[in-house]
Amino acid sequence: MEMTEDVVIVGAGIAGLATAVALKRVGVRALVLERSQGLRSTGAAITLQPNAWLALDALGVSHKLTPIYAPLFKRYVTNVSTGDVQQSLFTGKGPRTVHRKALLEALADELPTDSIRFSSKLAAIESQEQGGGASTAVVHLEDGTVIKSKVLIGCDGLHSVVARWLGLAEPVYSGRSAVRGLARFPQGHGFKQEVQRFEDVGKRAAFVPLNERELYWFFVCEEENMTGEPEQIQRQVLEKHAESFPSVYLDVVRHADLSTITWAPLMLRYPWGIVFGNLRKGNITVAGDAMHPMTPDLGQGGGSSLEDAVVLGRHIGNSVIRNGALMVPGDMAKAIDDYVKERRWRAAWLVTGSYISGWKQQGGAKWWMMFLRDGVFYKYVFGWIAGLVDYNCGNLPAVSSGKED
Ligand SMILES: Cc1cc2nc3c(=O)[nH]c(=O)nc-3n(C[C@H](O)[C@H](O)[C@H](O)COP(=O)(O)OP(=O)(O)OC[C@H]3O[C@@H](n4cnc5c(N)ncnc54)[C@H](O)[C@@H]3O)c2cc1C
Repeated sequence: MEMTEDVVIVGAGIAGLATAVALKRVGVRALVLERSQGLRSTGAAITLQPNAWLALDALGVSHKLTPIYAPLFKRYVTNVSTGDVQQSLFTGKGPRTVHRKALLEALADELPTDSIRFSSKLAAIESQEQGGGASTAVVHLEDGTVIKSKVLIGCDGLHSVVARWLGLAEPVYSGRSAVRGLARFPQGHGFKQEVQRFEDVGKRAAFVPLNERELYWFFVCEEENMTGEPEQIQRQVLEKHAESFPSVYLDVVRHADLSTITWAPLMLRYPWGIVFGNLRKGNITVAGDAMHPMTPDLGQGGGSSLEDAVVLGRHIGNSVIRNGALMVPGDMAKAIDDYVKERRWRAAWLVTGSYISGWKQQGGAKWWMMFLRDGVFYKYVFGWIAGLVDYNCGNLPAVSSGKED
C-alpha cells in the first residue's frame, strides 16, 4: 500500500502526541504512526515540572489534568546514612505527578480519531530531493506500507530509527538504573501533597502522592541488571538495595501494584552530540527522547518533549501563516532549522543539568562529597539547575479558525 500525508510523526508517546496537538492548533494535520497496538504508559506515572505545565497550557491541554492532580508544595530529603532531613518549599506553580496514561489520553483525545495509526512500525526512511529546496520523506513500515510525506518528525524514543538515520550518536548508559511503580492503599495512604526523597551513596529513592489512594515511587541505583518478574524486582529493592532505607519508604514499596513495576537502565545522549549533531536533514527532524534522552534526575524528559512540541508547532505554524500553505520549497527547512536552533542548547543543558543533579544527589556522606555538594553545588550550580525547570517555551501562533481540523 502507498499513501501520501502532509506530516508524519513516528511514535505516539508524549512527544509524538503533543507535536500532533501543536500542529493541529496551527491548522496542520499529522498522521501519527505507533508500533504498539495502543498507547503505551510504561513507567506508570510522571512528575511534570512548571515548564511542562506551561507547555501544556500552550497546547490547550493542562485544564484536563489540573482538576484531577493537585500540585506538590513541599519536599523532604532524607540522607539515609546520617538521618538528616532537609525540607524545601516549591515556589510558584509547583510540580504535579500524573498517571502517564491520563497524560497520553488527554493529548490523544485532542486529535481526530483517524490520526493515530497503531501497529505501524517504522522500518526505514529515505529523503527524496524534489528540486528548489523541497524534499519528500519516504517512510517504509514493517508491514510493507510506504508513506510519502512533506515533513517527518521522529518521536520514536530512546532507540529512534529517525535519530539513527540523521546520524546522531547512540544514547549511552549512565551507570544507573531505575525501578518504578505505583503503590495502592485502598483505605488511603495519609500522606500530604509532598515529595519524600531518600538519598544514599549510589542510591536515590522517592515517593509522591498521585491521589489519596495511590503513591508513585521509584528507586535508582547502580545495579546494571534488574530484569525478571515484577515480584523479583520488588524483592531485590526491598531485600538487597534499599534494605537500610527508612521503613516508611519500604512500606510503600511493599504496597506496590506488581502490574505497574518496571525496571529501566538510565540512558542519555552526550550533550555535545546534541549541540553538534545533525538534527535536520531535508524535512526530517526529531523531538523528545529521540533527540535528547536524559537521566530523570530533574524530571525533564517528558517536560522537554512537551516544550519541543510547542516550539516545533510554532515554527511550522509561522511558516504556514507566512506562506498560506504548509509546503513552500525551502521555507519548511527554514522552519525546522529555527526549531532546531531554539531547542539544541536548551536540550543539551537539560541533559547536563540532569546528570550533574543525579551525581550530586547520590554522592552520599563522604567528606569530599559533602564539600562538593554544600561548598560548590549549592553555592554555584543549584540556582542555575533549579531555573531550568521554570523555563517558558512560549505559545503557539494564532491561525484563522478555518485552518484547524
Ligand atoms: C525512570 C524514569 C523516570 C522518569 N521520570 C520522569 C519524570 O518524572 N518527568 C519527566 O518529565 N520525564 C521523566 N522521564 C522521562 C520521560 O519518560 C521521557 O522523556 C518521555 O517519556 C519521552 O517521551 P517520547 O515521546 O519522546 O518517547 P517515548 O515515551 O519512548 O515514546 C516513543 C513512542 O514511539 C514508539 N516507537 C518507537 N519506535 C517506533 C517505530 N520504529 N515505529 C513506530 N513507533 C515507534 C514507541 O512505541 C513509543 O510509544 C523518566 C524516564 C525514566 C526512564
